[in-house]
Amino acid sequence: MRLPKSIRQISLARMKPLTEAEIRAAFVNCSKGEAKRLSVPRDLADRPWDDLDYLGWRDPQAPDRAYLAVELDGRLKALALRTSAGGPGQARRSMCRLCLTTHSGGVSLMVARKAGRAGQQGNSVGAYICSDLACSLYVRGKRDAGVGGRLHETITLEERIERTVAHLAAFVAKVTG
Ligand SMILES: [Zn+2]
Repeated sequence: MRLPKSIRQISLARMKPLTEAEIRAAFVNCSKGEAKRLSVPRDLADRPWDDLDYLGWRDPQAPDRAYLAVELDGRLKALALRTSAGGPGQARRSMCRLCLTTHSGGVSLMVARKAGRAGQQGNSVGAYICSDLACSLYVRGKRDAGVGGRLHETITLEERIERTVAHLAAFVAKVTG
């Protein structure tokens, strides 16, 4: 069944603008104290929400810290992530496991402590993700990953977006499961 165009456009506009309070309340894998203190972007009002499937950001004061927030099944979930800060592997071409964009040195292993007791026992899960957490923009062709960055695919933008969100949902499920 094909949906009317107006509805399909709404389905592409994935995120409603988030507030700092909503983001801080959504963290699933850090303590309430950490969620209160961690760095949330100051420019939330200027983020390109209509083009975002998830909000991702780095802590400008702490290069090894990254965060993301995504609405899944109507609930906002945010993850605190640790990234490897550089190193000899950085120049290798590698592919983001969420959006399947290939970068030279622009993909980082992002590690999330698991939620709840499993996390307290030191368990974590990791995934290779675009270092700038801008998967949504690469998928839409609004940020360029350079030559060979995007696979030539015949599937539609909607399908690429759905696939990216599905990969992210699977990652979040590993963290919370
Ligand atoms: Zn990506």
